[in-house]
Amino acid sequence: MIKIKMMPVGLLGANCYLVYNSDTCEAVVIDPGSEYGRIKRQLDVDGMKVKAVLLTHGHFDHCNAARDFRRDGAKVYIHEADKLLLETDYNMSSLTNEPFRSFDPDVLVTDGTVIRECGMTFKVIYTPGHTVGSVCYILDNNIFTGDTLFCMGVGRTDLPTGNVRALEDSLKNVLFALEGDYNVFPGHGEPTSLEFERRHNPYV
Ligand SMILES: [Zn+2]
Ligand SMILES: [Zn+2]
Repeated sequence: MIKIKMMPVGLLGANCYLVYNSDTCEAVVIDPGSEYGRIKRQLDVDGMKVKAVLLTHGHFDHCNAARDFRRDGAKVYIHEADKLLLETDYNMSSLTNEPFRSFDPDVLVTDGTVIRECGMTFKVIYTPGHTVGSVCYILDNNIFTGDTLFCMGVGRTDLPTGNVRALEDSLKNVLFALEGDYNVFPGHGEPTSLEFERRHNPYV
């Protein structure tokens, strides 16, 4: 059985998601932005072993603990275009006192990449706009949207590589064009649903 735990971490309260396959006691961690120790303790308490880290984009508040999980043996995934953020101050860590903990991603994904980890299948959809390499990950009827889509909001586009037209296109023609409804797990704030956002999101 698949189980999703949400854990806001760091100064900006970015949502880290622990995705468990309780049959195998293996986990995928989405956007470990900070607080490695706290996330790891939760995984240990739950008896889960991390096999992979999926990053929605390269901002520090979503990836600054990736290096620690990689050291523990997890494979780190990110879109190829956001590798640039990992290599420059475009990751925005200069906004805080927390230094950027650089790492080499193991797998560079693109639109349509299928990720099989821990007996779960994640599909990558490319949704640039907040950053040039922002992606969402689909797992069954769940979407992890990072800073592309929030409950009643969208990600900012004024940071390096942000692009308001690209974001609009990603929302209208990619995310909202998916058929049916999905649970939406955003990079900040409360979970929502795709249908609710189609109807009520004031930015789209
Ligand atoms: Zn961001
Ligand atoms: Zn963020």
